[in-house]
Amino acid sequence: MQYLSADCIIPVSGEPCYDSVLAVSDTGTVEGVFLAGSLSDVSETIRHYNGILCPGFVNTHCHLELSYAKGLISEGNGLDAFVRQLETAKKSTSGLTIQMAIEKAASQMLQSGIVATADIANGNMTLDFKCNSRHYFHTFVEVFGSNPGYAAALFEKASHLKAQFEEQAMQGKVSIVPHATYSLSEELFRMVASAGPEHLLSIHHQENTDENLFFKNGSGAGAARRIMFNPDLPAYHGSGKRPMESIAGYFAPEQKILLVHNTVSEQQDIEFAENYFRHAYWCFCPNANLYIENRLPDISLFRAAGCHITLGTDSLASNHQLSILEEMKTIQKHFSEIPLPEVVRWGTLNGAEFLGLDGKLGSFEKGKTPGVVLIENADTQTLQLNPKSSSHLIIPADI
Ligand SMILES: [Zn+2]
Repeated sequence: MQYLSADCIIPVSGEPCYDSVLAVSDTGTVEGVFLAGSLSDVSETIRHYNGILCPGFVNTHCHLELSYAKGLISEGNGLDAFVRQLETAKKSTSGLTIQMAIEKAASQMLQSGIVATADIANGNMTLDFKCNSRHYFHTFVEVFGSNPGYAAALFEKASHLKAQFEEQAMQGKVSIVPHATYSLSEELFRMVASAGPEHLLSIHHQENTDENLFFKNGSGAGAARRIMFNPDLPAYHGSGKRPMESIAGYFAPEQKILLVHNTVSEQQDIEFAENYFRHAYWCFCPNANLYIENRLPDISLFRAAGCHITLGTDSLASNHQLSILEEMKTIQKHFSEIPLPEVVRWGTLNGAEFLGLDGKLGSFEKGKTPGVVLIENADTQTLQLNPKSSSHLIIPADI
C-alpha cells in the first residue's frame, strides 16, 4: 500500500479533505481517503506532497492528428479563417512530421495528468501511435459532407477507418460521429444515427454565430463554405430553427451525446438539448475558444441548468498545450465564482461518466484505479489556481 498526503485532497466523490491521506495499492487501486490521525498504526511512510491531489483527468475533446499545426494558425481570426489556414498548413506538412508531432503532444498530455481521451480522427494518422499506447482513447471517426450524393461513399470510408482503429488500437472504443450540426447532409446524418444510441456521439456545436445564421436563414460563413465546396447543390435557406433543434430528430432521445464548444449557446439551446436528450453532456474547450473566436461560452447558464459539463483541450492547432489543468485555469480566471472542486469534477468524473469509465476513473472511491494527479503552485486554502499552477501524473491509471 502507498500512503500519499498533500495540503489538500480533492476526491471528487466528496468535499475537499485537509490533514488527510490517500491510500492506494501498489497497482494503483484506491483504498480510501483517511484522516491523518486515524493512520497512526500504519508502518509504511506517508509521502507528503506540497499541493493538491486529485484523480487523473479525462479529456473529452482532442484532435491529436492536428498536433503538427502547433503555432501555425494565427489567433483570434474566427473559425472560417482557422479552417482555411489549417487546410494550407496540412498540404505543406510531411507524414513523418505529423507522426512525430502526435507522439510529442500525446506524451506531454499524459505527463500533465490526462488518463483517458476522446480523440477525433479524420484519417489514420493517429493509428500507429494508438497501436503502441497504453493510454485509453475513445476514437471518434468524424464524417462531414453536405452533398447527399456522396453520403454513402463518405460513410463507407468512415466505416473502413473505424474498423482499422478497432482492429489495431490497443485500448479504447471507436464510433462514427458527425462533424458539426451544419456540415452533413440529411442522408449522412441518418447513416451516422443508424449505429444506434449505444454508440457514443460527439458533435461540434455552436462554436460561433455563423452556425446559428446557417440554420436561421442559410447565411453566414458556414453557408458560404457549403456553396464553395458544393457549387452544384441547391441553395439552403435554413430551417428557421436553432442548430440542435434542426438536427436532433435524426437521433434517439436515449442517445448519449457530447456537445462540444457551445460558445454561443443560449438558454433556449440548453433547454432544448436537455429536454430532448436524456444523456446530454456539454464539453468546454475554453482555451481553444479564446484562440479561435476570442470569446467564451456563458458557463453560468449551463451551471444554472444543471448540465453535465466536461472539459476538452481541442487540438494544438488552436491551443498552446493539451492540458486539462490549463483549461481549468482559464475557467477560474474568467469565472472566479466557480469553486475548484466543481471544475475538477468536470475534468475527471463527468468525462469518465460520458465515456462509460466511471467504474474505474474520475474519483478517489474505493476500488477505482483513476490515477493520481498532483497540482502544484495553487492556493491550497482558497483553492485558487494561478498562472504558475501546474499538474503532473504521479500514479498512472489502470483502465
Ligand atoms: Zn474540435
